Amino acid sequence: MIGNDAPATTLNRLYRGPHRPSCLFWSRRILVAALFLPALTGFAPQRPVPADSATAVVVARALESPELPAMASGLLDTIGGRLSGTPAGTRAEAWAAGWMRGLGLDTVYYEVVRIPVWRRGTTHLQVVTPATARHRPIAAAALGYAPAIVADSVLVVDVGRGDSARVAALGDRVKGAAWLTDVINPDVLARAVRAGAAALLRITLEPGRLPQARVAPWPDVPAPLPALSVSREDGLWLRRLTAAGPVVMTLRVEAETRPGTVLNVVGEWEGSDPSVADQVFLLGAHLDAWDLGDGAIDNGTGVLSVMAAAGALAGSGLRPRRTVRVVLFAAEELGLRGSREYVKTHAGAMGDVVAMMNLDMVGDPEGYGATGHPEADTLFARLARDTPLRDLALHAEVNHGGGPGSDHQPFLLAGVPTIYVQTSLPPDAPRWYHNAGDTFDKIDLDAVRATAAAAAAAAWALADHPGRPLRTLSPEETAQLIQRLGW
Ligand SMILES: [Zn+2]
Repeated sequence: MIGNDAPATTLNRLYRGPHRPSCLFWSRRILVAALFLPALTGFAPQRPVPADSATAVVVARALESPELPAMASGLLDTIGGRLSGTPAGTRAEAWAAGWMRGLGLDTVYYEVVRIPVWRRGTTHLQVVTPATARHRPIAAAALGYAPAIVADSVLVVDVGRGDSARVAALGDRVKGAAWLTDVINPDVLARAVRAGAAALLRITLEPGRLPQARVAPWPDVPAPLPALSVSREDGLWLRRLTAAGPVVMTLRVEAETRPGTVLNVVGEWEGSDPSVADQVFLLGAHLDAWDLGDGAIDNGTGVLSVMAAAGALAGSGLRPRRTVRVVLFAAEELGLRGSREYVKTHAGAMGDVVAMMNLDMVGDPEGYGATGHPEADTLFARLARDTPLRDLALHAEVNHGGGPGSDHQPFLLAGVPTIYVQTSLPPDAPRWYHNAGDTFDKIDLDAVRATAAAAAAAAWALADHPGRPLRTLSPEETAQLIQRLGW
């Protein structure tokens, strides 16, 4: 763990990183402070602060978030795709720490996470037979943790959805072949390994000639064979070619997996009540993003919402009873590696987390979710309806569902109450999921501000609550919950 006693070189990264907040930001910050001054003088610094007034200050600050365009530009346009363990991933860690400092959090530190780092090199696929198809470029991308391959004459076979009957029907042809498949999952991958396939070419679902990045669905790294995404159009073209006659291909894929370290970036806004000094409200999002695009929707929206909420809290001039801890997790896209490590490292302190809110791919806020925790319905309903958030028109009904597969998962499995802001993404968002189209122009900063406001209001409500409205679940209760959720 790198804390306040971090080596000077690390601290230099915090203060003098390339993405340090600009002077413009500081002048705006002073302006914002001035705007809030009349409101603040009414109830700061003495406690208790009327809950509605405090929420109003925090919400107004989140809806303003004057530093948001500069933060977004730095994260999405300057850094862009930021797979953990790559140079862009490292730049994003410095960006996060620099902005946490700039937003006024009290303590900013890194926690080291050891992961297998995966680096993508060049990817080149070319049909050699039939010769008439040689000129056509193929848009493809290796899946995370795929190994490299250099092979000059690989037969392409269409295995459809990769089920055992289809594979068996293809007989010996599947051995040594590149399997063109609609589905990639652990079963299909295992079947391909057993049958001696050379590679897997998964046809991307969404149109647009954009291969979709994702991590290879395999428990170990590197993956047992080169698995790639090909764009929908190129995949369907290969399918038509294989239906017409033998298709032979050249595959040249550079990729490397090696041990490495990445960083969870943590910032704290300290609580004011010594009697609950150990308790924290944890606000998290994954910082990493696939390298094909700029990680705007996934997860620039979550990161920026968390940072705007953190800025609203730290810029409010108020202190809740408990500490609000902001964590930008590493390597979510590579298998929730940062959040798993966080929960493992802090296993003994999970009971002190009054709630964990994870924001991953967020749009316009619609309401709150509290997976498996109906005991806080009244609190969230009141928060949704009350004056400070009224303009967001949140519904008062709290969602109790929720899937796995993001950084709340390890926390939920440890019994921590996990909550979220339920949001709606633009209808075309799935088209840009994990592909080159996930860029700044796809997101709406006002939606980020609104989600940040809802998140900051919940953070304030739970961090400043006289009690703990959300229960920590026992292992038995957690087992029942994940069964009910169908995880
Ligand atoms: Zn995500």
